[in-house]
Amino acid sequence: MQRITILGATGSIGVSTLDVLARHPERYSVYALSAHSRVDELAAQCVRFRPARAVVGDADAAARLRALLRAAGVRTEVEHGERALCAIASAAETDTVMAAIVGAAGLAPTLAAARAGKKVLLANKEALVMSGQLFMDAVRESGAVLLPIDSEHNAIFQCLPQGYGRAPAAAGVTKILLTASGGPFLKRDVATLDGVTPDEACAHPKWVMGRKISVDSATMMNKGLEVIEAHWLFGTPAEQIEVVIHPQSVIHSMVSYSDGSVLAELGNPDMRTPIAHALAYPERIASGVAQLDLTQVGTLQFERPDFERFPCLALAFDALKAGGTAPALLNAANEAAVAAFLDTRIGFRDIARVIARVMDELPHGAAASIEAVMAQDALARAAAGRVIDAIAARAAG
Ligand code: NDP
Ligand code: MG
Repeated sequence: MQRITILGATGSIGVSTLDVLARHPERYSVYALSAHSRVDELAAQCVRFRPARAVVGDADAAARLRALLRAAGVRTEVEHGERALCAIASAAETDTVMAAIVGAAGLAPTLAAARAGKKVLLANKEALVMSGQLFMDAVRESGAVLLPIDSEHNAIFQCLPQGYGRAPAAAGVTKILLTASGGPFLKRDVATLDGVTPDEACAHPKWVMGRKISVDSATMMNKGLEVIEAHWLFGTPAEQIEVVIHPQSVIHSMVSYSDGSVLAELGNPDMRTPIAHALAYPERIASGVAQLDLTQVGTLQFERPDFERFPCLALAFDALKAGGTAPALLNAANEAAVAAFLDTRIGFRDIARVIARVMDELPHGAAASIEAVMAQDALARAAAGRVIDAIAARAAG
């Protein structure tokens, strides 16, 4: 019986994870669940899955959750805050941690799980982007098992000879081909992108996801973050990672070998497949996802990304090549800019402008410690805030 902690249980990945777990009660039990502010959703999950512990963002949310659980006769222990998140991620009573909090907020608990030697199912790509070297060192030192949930990285993992235990070059790997749907604005006239609304940006053609990652998909910053994520997970240099636009999202990524072979993982676009793969690895379990029928799909298309249309992708490659804390700056500026776009304070194309300005303004340093990374994160958010205020003031005036 695997005992699971889900960080970010009320989100898109969290809900899909519980869906898979519920199909296999003989294999999995839920040890702990977390949410930030959606207390009603978390209460319903606690009633159904009866975790020993639940964590929310603040004391007020904790009080509301306690009241709901008391009324329902559920004896889950309720805590709040980052320290409690780290505790449920590293507790002796849990074996497997699904890291599915969105953004930098997931870094501390995800790292706590890695340091405690857990089986870490990594959806929270921002944690790896911010502190790739520190995170991978923690995994190596503790003997944690790191399994990628991001569909592309899960596909690559499946196409590599022995996971990523071996350096890809030694295994004959010449290139990683990361596929990208291109998002909702792949064919839209670039000149009209300034006027798109948050709802239009979040209407992804193939995947149903949280709002932050949906905007990242529309700017293709998501793919940029995934390039950095692939670099750390598989030890692949930036020059050997290529982005290929594939609007059908049937091929989830590919690996090229020196003999000319290209291996791909295919399936219907549904996150329950990589979640089930990682949960059961190296076995296979049912995920609830329908089998792929290629005759229904008919045609698979591929094209090169247009870096003019998607400047965020170029910014991410630049940050990876710059190294050190540059990816942490990129990530923080992006989180601030996406939040401002979702609040309709800045336009869609301003997201890339904010990030570029922050990257120009702030020198990056060595990512020597989590404290150094978090300090750069804070600087980048403050700098992004100033650029956002200036843009918003200009638009208002
Ligand atoms: P959602 O926005 O749907 O869910 C985010 C989860 O994190 C919720 O449980 C939310 O709680 C919680 N949360 C939000 N802010 C905080 C905070 N400050 N502190 C603690 N918890 C917080 O996101 P997704 O499920 O879409 O994405 C989660 C992660 O997985 C992201 O890193 C994303 O990039 C990655 N990912 C997602 C994919 C997808 O298909 N959705 C695909 C590949 C990767 P509450 O509900 O209370 O707000
Ligand atoms: Mg992905």
